[in-house]
Amino acid sequence: MAARPFPHEWRAIIERRVALWSRLPAADRLELLRHILVFLDEKRFEGCGGMAITDEVRLTIAAQACLLLLHRETDYFPALRSILVYPDEYVAPAAEQHESGIVVEDHEPRAGESWAEGSLVLSWRDVMEESADGENGENVVLHEFAHQVDDEWGLSSAEPHEQPEGGAREWARAFREAFARHKRLVEGGRETAIDPYGATDEAEFFAVVTETFFGQPANLRIAEPELYRQWSKFFRLDPVSWGGDRSDDIGRERLIDDGIEAETLTDDFPSGGGELLGEG
Ligand SMILES: [Zn+2]
Repeated sequence: MAARPFPHEWRAIIERRVALWSRLPAADRLELLRHILVFLDEKRFEGCGGMAITDEVRLTIAAQACLLLLHRETDYFPALRSILVYPDEYVAPAAEQHESGIVVEDHEPRAGESWAEGSLVLSWRDVMEESADGENGENVVLHEFAHQVDDEWGLSSAEPHEQPEGGAREWARAFREAFARHKRLVEGGRETAIDPYGATDEAEFFAVVTETFFGQPANLRIAEPELYRQWSKFFRLDPVSWGGDRSDDIGRERLIDDGIEAETLTDDFPSGGGELLGEG
């Protein structure tokens, strides 16, 4: 598999579509390309609502999903078989059984969802917009694939599976404490580095922290240093050190004031996002 060449035009798609690619260290890029080939071999893409599945669609999604697999032995999201892609946000009727016995139909438009039984759903418009410009740290691809990682490792549960290097108990404690803090801040109407949606439950908290970890790592490290440490350990990545962080200036200046890796943070902030969008 490692010897198989990665098509030039595929790489060009990733460069054009995926803002995170420009921040990734060179060695990690090569590993990512190898993962993408396996991922594309194993997973089935299905177009829904008239959506055509092009290389553009497959590569943009695969490249970001595989960021979650770097630096580890992996089974490539073993529970996942199909990725369903809609052209835009789709309306999914969700029946919710309340204690009173009344079933409430929820018709909220959705940008994506991840199901335990083998499928994951994405809105291509949201994928495109958030892949090309990570400015606010939101990324529906990372979010939905984070749910897959969580289901595999039990990371948002009270008993995460033991990792090869240990530390599951330490992870669980840091996770629980940070989730409680996040809920308090959100309930108090405070601004948070982590998306307020994370206060919904532990699984959503894991997914949105993963978005922030990649999209605005400096903000996460300031707001929740222990969480950043745990995420770095689990994903075996240190996105703050990549530079090109789109965390807001306050986060960046506070890191420099603290003397934390000022040399990596004073690197130029690439203006890639806007240009990438323009080319699309
Ligand atoms: Zn979610």
